[in-house]
Amino acid sequence: MSTVDRQTDPLAAEDVAAAVIPTRNIVAGRIDADAMKVVRRLRRFGHSAYLVGGCVRDLMLRRRPKDFDVATSARPNEIRKLFRNCRLIGRRFRLAHIIFRDKVIETATFRAAVDNHGDDLLIRSDNVFGSEQQDAYRRDFTINGLFYDPVERHIIDYVGGMEDLARRILRFIGEPEVRVQEDPVRILRAIRFAARLGFSIEPATYRAMQRYRQDVSRCAPPRLLEEVIRMLRSGAAQQCFQLMWECGVLPVLLPEVARFLARSPERGEEREPGAGLFAYLRALDAGERELLSNPVLLAAVLLHPVADIMEHGCRPYGLSGRESAPGEIARLLLRGIIQRLSLPRWQAERIQQVIATQFRLRKLRPGMRAPRVLLRRNYFPEALDLFSCGVRATSHGRRLLRQLQRATRQKPPAPAAVPEPGPTSTGAKTRRRRRRPRRRPGKQAGG
Ligand code: ATP
Ligand code: MG
Repeated sequence: MSTVDRQTDPLAAEDVAAAVIPTRNIVAGRIDADAMKVVRRLRRFGHSAYLVGGCVRDLMLRRRPKDFDVATSARPNEIRKLFRNCRLIGRRFRLAHIIFRDKVIETATFRAAVDNHGDDLLIRSDNVFGSEQQDAYRRDFTINGLFYDPVERHIIDYVGGMEDLARRILRFIGEPEVRVQEDPVRILRAIRFAARLGFSIEPATYRAMQRYRQDVSRCAPPRLLEEVIRMLRSGAAQQCFQLMWECGVLPVLLPEVARFLARSPERGEEREPGAGLFAYLRALDAGERELLSNPVLLAAVLLHPVADIMEHGCRPYGLSGRESAPGEIARLLLRGIIQRLSLPRWQAERIQQVIATQFRLRKLRPGMRAPRVLLRRNYFPEALDLFSCGVRATSHGRRLLRQLQRATRQKPPAPAAVPEPGPTSTGAKTRRRRRRPRRRPGKQAGG
């Protein structure tokens, strides 16, 4: 396969000619005007500059890019001199953030792959400037390695990404076994992109992911947490967890959840293993997951192992103790996750509270009032978010949900602005949300 043969040595990338492919697929109006300004200004001062990475992939697929990244031949100091609104970040590899009113355009100097000579391929730093070609080759997947020249309106393809986009295939650039060992987080990225875009994973890429899945435990824990959260917010969380389970990485990343799925036969779920968990994940995918906090997203996953332990005890999960209260069980399960994923303790505590509250709410019959003190807890809005997700997942508890939503509204809504949820609605879209912090200042990995 030509696209694969010419990618086997990223360090010899200089020799490879790029395919320059004019495209009318990318509608100019979809490109961020500020990203265009950055590219144009760099060009005007004699540098090469392109849109790169996920935004090119998404534009080609006619999806809305989350953000726009620029790669350029200009060195960080040169970029800074050209843009008053530029801030350089990072100590080892300096990235330029060009700051606009409502966004940041990340602008990076072309980088090269790191030449690791030893047996251990894990990349610990990648702070080497390189050529345009080398920058394409150091990227993870062929569909993420495309450059777009928005002035000439053509794609520059060193890695065979256009062919893979057309065939809807996710494939490592270069030798899959090397690329996965260099950075095992790429296993999780592969799963997320395949799930979100509905692409199939090329067989050699998939074999490498399976073979080196244990290496995920060598990655920096905050990066793992970030990937789990990105999966849960991707709109394809159900498929991400399904793929993590099938390729065997789930027991390495979240053994608590893997155990829950492995125990499906004991719970009589042979026909639909992990049905309850997957129903919640589908409900997340269909709902406003961007608005949910990290603790709510993680609680949506952990709720199911907790319920399993409440019914069958700690032993099947290899935990010692006789805990039977949901919050306490969640605390036991979270111990490992705090270590493995560097989950901040305040988030772990919030997950416990959110999970414990689900069981309190489940005991309420329609018409019964929730205790006022519970409604006033600062974690109650998040508990209600998860409850609402559960209502969508199970189709139970709609009346109670509406009642709780009414009870927690701070002000009566104006009838036209916030209509009463209809009989089949979960009310999730109309509920007034309280502001709550997503992230605590100075905390790692986004809360
Ligand atoms: P998303 O839409 O989820 O942001 P993305 O492709 O833009 O997807 P980012 O994490 O924002 O993903 O990374 C931007 C680009 O940087 C990627 O498209 C890829 O080219 C490169 N990249 C990111 N992470 C890696 C990695 N671990 N190894 C190699 N290249 C990477
Ligand atoms: Mg991105």
